[in-house]
Amino acid sequence: MEKDIKRIIKNLGGISFEDKVVLITGGAGFLGSWICDVLVEQGAKVICADNLSSGLNSNIRHLLDRMNFKFIRCDISEPIELDEKRVDLIMHLASRASPLEFDKFPIEIIRANTLGTMNMLELARKYNARFLFTSTSEVYGDAKVIPTPETYNGNVNPVGIRGCYDESKRCGEALCMAYLRQYNLDVRIARIFNTYGPRMRADGVYGRVIPRFITQALKNEPITIFGDGKQTRSFCYVTDQIEGLLRLAWFDECKGEVVNIGNPNEITILKLAEIIKEIANSDSEIKFCSPMPDDPRRRCPDITKAKTLLNWMPKIELEEGLRKTVEWFKEVV
Ligand code: UDP
Repeated sequence: MEKDIKRIIKNLGGISFEDKVVLITGGAGFLGSWICDVLVEQGAKVICADNLSSGLNSNIRHLLDRMNFKFIRCDISEPIELDEKRVDLIMHLASRASPLEFDKFPIEIIRANTLGTMNMLELARKYNARFLFTSTSEVYGDAKVIPTPETYNGNVNPVGIRGCYDESKRCGEALCMAYLRQYNLDVRIARIFNTYGPRMRADGVYGRVIPRFITQALKNEPITIFGDGKQTRSFCYVTDQIEGLLRLAWFDECKGEVVNIGNPNEITILKLAEIIKEIANSDSEIKFCSPMPDDPRRRCPDITKAKTLLNWMPKIELEEGLRKTVEWFKEVV
């Protein structure tokens, strides 16, 4: 992981958050903790806020004794006060994101993305800080335009099982634009497409597809495909994603912009299962289970805007990223 963090810093080139005061909500989560690592290394003053509902202590434990890192255990659905005199940037990542959690924690998810986003926008207003909201490809729902550009308005079922996530992220985006229009707050919105890598939760039960398949493969248990496996996703390795997010947070000209960040290489879930099985050298059988309700059939970002605006594109091929991820999971499973 250290090599990966160094790689992100190298790829960021002249972009450095040294001396900036940055609040990261969901900082103990998968993506949040990678951002904490990069910013601490660059010499920013990092405040990590997390209620540890889905984030993990183990993701940030190694940072706790760093002078420029502070952890606050709190729920951002309630207003929070900071001791800081100055905050330059708020990166709002806090929210559960796994579809397997949508029927157990829908209200918590809606609170984090609506009330939580509003509370963090108010905090940004108080400090006159820049604000980055991590939205999601889920705002497009079961998209009818593939690859999907930012101008596509979505095909979302508000009352379906995914509605709690999709609609609250859509509301979060609307809130950001409202704060820009009414208060001229410097907001930017990242629509994150499927991302994977070390530190994804390995507990299996609520996990996303890649950690679930890797865990199943390493234990030689059946690899569970929901439906026929012909649905597609396009997977971005975590270092590429973090670089994209930090670029979006950095450039002045990104104020008010909405940008897809993801990898445009589309693959079926069945093919993904086969690749993981091979990389993990596993004897697992591939088992077809009931489909997930409202599961989008295809997902793939149009990243033209990110390429031009952020001078960014993903670099890590799926097989390379999966190999690194499998190695990491071997240590923790
Ligand atoms: N999926 C699967 N088996 C699993 C977990 C997920 O076939 O054990 C499928 C899921 O139905 C979806 C895709 O993998 O089509 C990606 O699921 P994930 O939970 O990672 O997130 P999503 O992209 O749906 O938000």
